[in-house]
Amino acid sequence: MNMIPTNEIDLVKASSSKINDVDFNNLQFGRIFTDHMLVCNYKDGKWQKPQIMPYQPMTLEPSARVLHYGQAIFEGMKAYKDDDGKIFMFRPDQNFARLNKSATRLAMPEFPKNYFINGLETLITLENEWIKPGKGNSLYLRPFIVATEPAIAASPAEEYSFMIICSPAKAYYTDPVRVLFAEKYSRSADGGVGYAKAAGNYAAQFYPTRLAQEKGFQQIIWTDASSHDYLEEAGTMNIFFRIGNKLITAPNNDRILDGVTRKSIIQIAEDLGIDCEVRRVSVSEIKAAAKDGSLKEVFGAGTAAVVSPISAFSHAEEVFEISGSEDSYASIFKDHLLNIQHNISEDKHGWRHKV
Ligand code: PMP
Repeated sequence: MNMIPTNEIDLVKASSSKINDVDFNNLQFGRIFTDHMLVCNYKDGKWQKPQIMPYQPMTLEPSARVLHYGQAIFEGMKAYKDDDGKIFMFRPDQNFARLNKSATRLAMPEFPKNYFINGLETLITLENEWIKPGKGNSLYLRPFIVATEPAIAASPAEEYSFMIICSPAKAYYTDPVRVLFAEKYSRSADGGVGYAKAAGNYAAQFYPTRLAQEKGFQQIIWTDASSHDYLEEAGTMNIFFRIGNKLITAPNNDRILDGVTRKSIIQIAEDLGIDCEVRRVSVSEIKAAAKDGSLKEVFGAGTAAVVSPISAFSHAEEVFEISGSEDSYASIFKDHLLNIQHNISEDKHGWRHKV
């Protein structure tokens, strides 16, 4: 354990815990928050001393820049508990690197690594009781940075808050979803902010996703903005296709978020001897594979659901059902990842980070 020395973090403990009011068997994602949060403010050109305090509303002036120009970024990660009560994070260095990539793209100051890792560890240790053992249970961690400076000039802020809030998440067994391939709207463009975990990327997806839902599809699979011919990403997940026994996923570019789950699955595929091609995937290739029966699986990959199977897709008003496969890659990868995250199987790449 590598906690911030007490002289490097202020700690005000909650006078009582809300934990006994929480029904851990019926958790909706992201609705319940733990007793504490971490706050670290940026002003006078530097990050100030981090503070852990009771979870509470924050005060912002109406002129806070984030409310006008959306200068906001976030991360999503989880802490897991094994059956002996040991706690782990999964590849937090990757989330740290991505946070600062996002910060740079949004003209925000980079956040220091020791504050990020030690802040997470200190907060998670304090919230130990909120992390339940059992495969799939976890504590979802949401670090984020917002521009708090009260000024409405359209330029980068000089004051920010970095915060971490935590939300218990239960074992997540998602039903397969039906998706629409994007033909009109785009989530990102060349030279844009698609590779950053910028708040605005998500707000911009809500309207087209709602239109898809009205047609009976839960999610959109985003295509490249210029031609809409290549399949790139799901709303909050990267995407994999299985044709025959081969896996295919789009290469990272400046339109796609560099997912930690995606890169872990690519490595696990290599470890298991599953052929995984990282290359452009065209809509026409996937439609042809669906028609000739060689498209076995399509699934999304991301921290929240780990792996989320897709049972059907629609493009140009045509609907294609995906049969699935008995030796489902989606469940193989999900199981493999959960076993590493929960300290059940060997961690040959050193992805577990003990808290
Ligand atoms: N793409 C987008 C747009 C996302 O929001 C996420 C969730 N962070 C992902 C992909 C998956 O990334 P990760 O595996 O790191 O959760």
